[in-house]
Amino acid sequence: MVKKNEIDVIKKSVQELRKANDRIGIETLKHRCGYCNNFMDENAPTDMIFPILDWDVSPWAGLFFPMTIDGVTLTAFVALKNSDAWKEGHKVIMLLCSEECKEKAMELIKKQVEMNNSFYKNVEELK
Ligand SMILES: [Zn+2]
Repeated sequence: MVKKNEIDVIKKSVQELRKANDRIGIETLKHRCGYCNNFMDENAPTDMIFPILDWDVSPWAGLFFPMTIDGVTLTAFVALKNSDAWKEGHKVIMLLCSEECKEKAMELIKKQVEMNNSFYKNVEELK
């Protein structure tokens, strides 16, 4: 359940996120690994994970956003609401360049879930 103050933070942050996404460019963002930030070749096999967050991500549909866990900033993407991914429940998508990055990202997300913290506080940190 999303608390009211969390919604306010998301509303305030969505404009910041949009600005950061526009500044960096979707073409750049979608070719960066969500864990190591390395460039991924268009034809290179990439891995994906689908973190489930504890608040409503719908205001961020179509945007990349950062999540800082244990000092490491991961980048994930919120699917468009009319996409197959969204309909299948894969609202949050993280693109990864390798099995190694996938494992490291999953480890951090698991840790975050165990600590029972929200990610939204880190939204200003998109680089
Ligand atoms: Zn990587």
